[in-house]
Formats: sequence, C-alpha cells, structure tokens
Amino acid sequence: MSSTPGASESRIQTLKTLVGMLMGRRSAFSSLSSATLDIDDVLLARKWLKQPESWRDRSVTEAYEKTFTDWIGARFGFAFETGRTALSACIHALDLKPGDHVIIPGYTCVVVDNAFRFAGCRISYCDIELETFGPDAGSLKHLVTPDTRAIVIHHLYGLVCRDLEPIMALSREHGIPVIEDCAQAAGAEFKAARVGNFGDLSFFSSEQSKVINTIQGGVAVTNREDLAARIKHYQEEADFPNMQRIGRLLMTAVHNYYRHRNTGWSLTGSHAVFRYASRRVISTTQEEIEGKKPEGYGCRLSAAAAALGLNQLKKIDHYNRLRRETAAKWDRWCEEKGYDPPTVLPDSLPVFLRYPVIVEPERKKDLSWAEKDPGVRPGVWFVSHLHPSNRTVSDCPNATRAVQGCVNFPGILS
Ligand SMILES: *Cc1c(COP(=O)(O)O)cnc(C)c1O
Repeated sequence: MSSTPGASESRIQTLKTLVGMLMGRRSAFSSLSSATLDIDDVLLARKWLKQPESWRDRSVTEAYEKTFTDWIGARFGFAFETGRTALSACIHALDLKPGDHVIIPGYTCVVVDNAFRFAGCRISYCDIELETFGPDAGSLKHLVTPDTRAIVIHHLYGLVCRDLEPIMALSREHGIPVIEDCAQAAGAEFKAARVGNFGDLSFFSSEQSKVINTIQGGVAVTNREDLAARIKHYQEEADFPNMQRIGRLLMTAVHNYYRHRNTGWSLTGSHAVFRYASRRVISTTQEEIEGKKPEGYGCRLSAAAAALGLNQLKKIDHYNRLRRETAAKWDRWCEEKGYDPPTVLPDSLPVFLRYPVIVEPERKKDLSWAEKDPGVRPGVWFVSHLHPSNRTVSDCPNATRAVQGCVNFPGILS
C-alpha cells in the first residue's frame, strides 16, 4: 500500500536512518509499517535466506493455508503472492468476463480497481459511510442493475463495516455474489464469526503494513466448494515468484525490523539497513499506480513467505488484543479533542489495524500538529479515492470527505 518512493528520495531516507542509528537515536514515532515484526521473524528470515532450495516447497505453503484458514474458521483458503492476486483469483472463480458489471467502494486501493480492470470488468463506484468507512448500502442499492455480477465490500482499518447485513441481504435478494475485502481486518469478528465468512469469497493481505506481515502475501478464502475448486485451479496455473523476488522479500523482512522496529544502534542493524535498503520490496509499483498490469502479476505464495506467515499467526491474537487496547487510548484522545471516534458495530470485534479519525482537511495536508499531541505520526490512508493513485471518483461525497480529512493512528505503539 505504500507508494513508490523515488530512488534518490529512498537513498536519502536510508542515509538518515543510518545516521540516526549510528547516533543511537531512536525514532520518537511509532512506525506504521511492520508493526508485528519481531526478532524471531528476523531470525527466521535469515535462516530462510540460507536455504533457497526450499523457497518453492509446496508443503510449507499448504501448512500456512491450513493454519490461516482454520484460524479464520472457513473451509477453503489458497495463498498467493499478494492480496491483489488473491482478489484476481476470486474474480476468476466468479468467472467474470470482459464487460461484466461490478460495484466496488469509491474509497479503496488502486490495486483492487486494477484487479477488475485487468479482467475487463465495467466498474461502478459506490459511496461509503463515515462511521466505519465501508460501502453505504443506500448508495450501493442505486447502482445495482440486472447485469451486476459482483459486489465488493470491505472492512477498512480493521473495523467491521456498518452495512454488512443490509448489503448481504441485497446480495441475496438479487443473487449477486459478494467479495469481502478483508485486507485490513484479519481476525475481526461479527456475531462471533471472523470476517471473511460473510461474502461468497473473501481475500486477505499480509503486506508489510497489514495485520500480519509476510512483506507480501495474500489468501483467498471461501466456504463454497464450487468456488474453491476454481480458485485452486487458478493457483495451480500460477507460477511461484522468481528466486530474486523471494530473496528480496526475505531481505525486506530483515531490513524492516531494523528500520522500523529495533531502531537503536547496533552493528547488525546498521549493516542490514545498509545492505538491504536498495533491494527491498515495493508494494505498489508506479506501473500499478498507472493502472497497468506488471510483469509477473498473479503468482502463488512462496514457501519463504508462508514460513513467515506461520510465525506471524502465532502472535496475531496477542497483537490484535494490543490493537484494541491502543484504540481505547485513541477513544479518549478523540473525546478530549472533540473528534468523532469510529463506530464499532454492535456484536462486532474490530482489530484496529489503524484508528481512523476525520480531522480538518488542512490538518491532513500538514501533519506537523500531531508531533506534539498525540505524539505519533498519523497515516494518511487514503490519499485519493483509489489510493495511492491520483484518480478521483465522482458522486461519492462521503468518500471525498474521507480523502480530504481521514487520518489514522497506529494500532500498535512502539
Ligand atoms: C492492502 C490492501 C489490498 C491489497 O493487498 P496487497 O496484499 O497489497 O495486494 C486490498 N484492499 C485493501 C483495502 C488493502 O488495504
């Protein structure tokens, strides 16, 4: 989800990090990336760097798929190199054809839009509500036509979306399948079931800014046997990422830990940041921001990433509890400052990947106010209707309001 830094900008940032480390300066700000990466993940990544012969070992990916899917409480799950590819697998499973009409939220990631564009779909954008930033059932209803073949709902920031039930009812009434975008909400629950079990299909992400982190990763989930067979087929046809990409993923894990988590001075840390900075994985490339399909799109998940995923899953419940504790702190902050806290849907358990707050638009443009109080660097998801591109979507006034004013605080403080 992070945008592509320019090469020189990235070099300057690396230099700053290194100087900071050498001077023993810890960053005062909680990082918004890689919040769940710990030293055990780093040791694991280093071990895997030394065994490239195992990087495409299917049994590790299968073990991860099983553990993840059991944890979600669903029947079938298939792992891919990214969440966006898992979405493409869902699109394939629904047999969406060029020209088919789909409805997606007008406040989402450009890679979600891209997955449908790559399939040639005709896309309508529905507005969101400003309580949980999910699709607004009222807006969605007006866009449904007899030709509509799929609806995307999402649970942003780790909040279960407000209109989940009315939208599922609408889907049943019209016989339109729902794809649930759970990229930011792994572990969130509604009426004691984890998200990902409500739509006909769902997908998760373990990109470096998400609830669990394998640098890049995604899982497509379903409870329907017919759709599972089609996802499986898509996965069987998919390549593993090339060896260079898998190596870079592991190096990025090591790099991110020392750059974002353990930022005090150490020889090992400075060495890792220096050595791996230029080789780290960029989540969304300039090509994708421009809506083009990059070469090598649509791979399955490597065993190396799956091994990190298995380790992350051991800690996810702990970290999700921590996120909810942090949210209570942001609730108090909102009350003090007179901002509206996000809505927690009754009977839901959010995971607060981030804590979203709508502030004055000028405060989203210049975030320096936050340095003093609350003393963390806010995130800016989303900077546009189709983040992080600069594309806008019309007739979605609430989405526009969120683009202008919604900032977010970290769910895990360092
Ligand atoms: C991150 C994200 C995606 C895409 O996941 P990747 O693993 O980065 O491909 C899709 N939807 C939302 C809401 C996301 O936050």
